[in-house]
Amino acid sequence: MATVVDCPTCGTKVEWSEASKYRPFCSERCKQIDLGAWAEEKYTIPASPPLDNPDDDPDEPPQR
Ligand SMILES: [Zn+2]
Repeated sequence: MATVVDCPTCGTKVEWSEASKYRPFCSERCKQIDLGAWAEEKYTIPASPPLDNPDDDPDEPPQR
């Protein structure tokens, strides 16, 4: 039974196996895109808008 995940960059189904060396990404290109997005702080998660919940992590010092 294979586990399948969605590529974080393009949403392509990726089989979670040794054959998918760039998992959870579908390809090296998508992996690089994702890493680049993080580096430029442009990363967004369309399906899951971030929740501004200060109670979520009490150990986190205030950022603002
Ligand atoms: Zn992809």
